[in-house]
Amino acid sequence: MPELPEVETERRRLAERIEGRRIVSARIDDARLTRPEDPALAAAVLTGACVTEVGRRGKYIVVHLDDGHALLVHLRMTGGFRYAPATHERAILELDDGARIAYRDTRRFGTWSVLEEDDADRLLAVKNGPEPLGRSFTAVFLAGRLAGRKAPVKAAILDQRTVAGLGNIYAVEALWHARIHPLRSAGDLDADEVADLRDGIRQALRLGIRRQGADLGDGAYAGGTMQNEFRVYGRTGEPCSRCGTPIAKAQVAGRGTWFCPTCQAVRRSSRRPSRSRRRSSA
Ligand SMILES: [Zn+2]
Repeated sequence: MPELPEVETERRRLAERIEGRRIVSARIDDARLTRPEDPALAAAVLTGACVTEVGRRGKYIVVHLDDGHALLVHLRMTGGFRYAPATHERAILELDDGARIAYRDTRRFGTWSVLEEDDADRLLAVKNGPEPLGRSFTAVFLAGRLAGRKAPVKAAILDQRTVAGLGNIYAVEALWHARIHPLRSAGDLDADEVADLRDGIRQALRLGIRRQGADLGDGAYAGGTMQNEFRVYGRTGEPCSRCGTPIAKAQVAGRGTWFCPTCQAVRRSSRRPSRSRRRSSA
């Protein structure tokens, strides 16, 4: 399931080919993609439009068009763009430079919505909290979202309105970076821990983007290498790269959740030196 780094990688590849180009023909072969809208109507809006910019908001790719519309693409499980003929093609865009771009989706959970820009903005704002790599994702904002919540912190950070773009993989990686046990109650984190969590989320995502996401071998996001650098995800029993303790696995809200029982102890034995003290002594 693509998360922010995989979606961002798809966005960059698409932007390279489509920005500044005119869509001379659009064909949508799978009605599920645009449901409940008619795929022929969506294709008609896309045809003839010029792509001004390809952006991203959370896990959405946002294709801005020069006629005031935007195409929102959510890849869900296995969606992605292909630049050579592929199996499971669900839609085809032909560009004024002769390029052919296919949207491929094996599992068919992905969605395309063609909306007016204002409606697209509203929808994206309702679905997504701040961009984790942007300025508005502050420790203060995150603390406000976690305050008073009994849910495990791992479940809380999967809520796209708390932080946009995280899924199971980067949530567990972020918690390892932050040294926070995934089962702790979200509302129990102190201010230092929330700041560590914010930093951990950013660290995990930045690394994922640098590695062009994770290729989990299903052919959906080929080319990424993040899977070789997971610190905890899927690594049950392997030594923690920080302390050597075997990585443990638990279930949180029905999802596999990996962590280091030492670095991410449920109870931190004593009060750690404060964040500022740790920094000054480093
Ligand atoms: Zn460890």
